[in-house]
Amino acid sequence: KEGEIGFATLPDQVHRKSVKKGFDFTMMVCGESGLGKSTMINSLFLSELYHGRRQQYVQEKINQTVQIETKGIEIEEKGVKLRLTVVDTPGFGDALNCETHWKTIDDFLCSKFMEYYSAESGLNRKCIQDNRVHCCLYFIPPYGHGLREMDINLMKHLQDRVNVIPIISKADTLTRNEVNKLKARIRSDIQTHDIKVYQLPELDSDEDETVRTEDAEIKAAWPFAVVASTQILEVRGQKIHGRLYPWGVVDVEDPEHSDFLKIRKMLIATHMQDLKEVTHDILYEQFRAQLLSSFSN
Ligand code: GDP
Ligand code: MG
Repeated sequence: KEGEIGFATLPDQVHRKSVKKGFDFTMMVCGESGLGKSTMINSLFLSELYHGRRQQYVQEKINQTVQIETKGIEIEEKGVKLRLTVVDTPGFGDALNCETHWKTIDDFLCSKFMEYYSAESGLNRKCIQDNRVHCCLYFIPPYGHGLREMDINLMKHLQDRVNVIPIISKADTLTRNEVNKLKARIRSDIQTHDIKVYQLPELDSDEDETVRTEDAEIKAAWPFAVVASTQILEVRGQKIHGRLYPWGVVDVEDPEHSDFLKIRKMLIATHMQDLKEVTHDILYEQFRAQLLSSFSN
């Protein structure tokens, strides 16, 4: 339905008990400075998702990000509450150089794990607010020929702490052909360098048609290429959210130009639960095991 993004189906995916509590979900953006990370976050907050809802976080003019910034919003769909948190990070080149960059982000991710660990060992274990970062959109420049040394390094530093989802930014600067070539190149770079990015879960053999189609669509478009904008433009009487060029307009929600809708749907609706499970069962467990072994040494 219009204006709905579909997280109300989350209860079908998990125990009904969690419905009353609502869902916590945190996403982060990382990558070089100037690739449109902050714009993308604002795009998300500006998009349909927030029409008629709170928009106090949307800025028209985006300043350079100099420190880690967290924005939160609570939205409700069909009685299901979602507390969405978005973490914006300064890119390398901004306030941070390459070597210290990953450390700043790693410290942040660990501090959230640590918070959870303390809460888990406390008295009120039943209603822990989960502030761990469940996924990280890693921004890759459109003008390169695949992953650069620094992208590989940073992704490798991140991969054991967070679900990394690679994203090609500013897809409007490339032709369709160039986008497809770059996507193929990135897929092969990820394999060659053995980078652990987020893997879609295996489908059950009895999974229905809709889920199969969604899964196939995501796999075909992977890694996503996006166009972001904080501008609302008026085109033929319709308000769209896009970028204006001498030759025309790019609508960020037009699937011909941008995988924006696909990524939003994947994060907020179809794969949120899995991203949370991987965070808890694998990444957090790993952190916890390391922590415990450091106590005993
Ligand atoms: P950040 O440093 O990664 O946070 O990048 P910003 O969000 O501050 O954006 C840097 C510049 O890129 C700004 O001038 C944006 O308007 C521009 N920009 C952001 N997204 C896009 C996009 O999808 N396409 C194009 N062409 N420019 C973009
Ligand atoms: Mg920024």
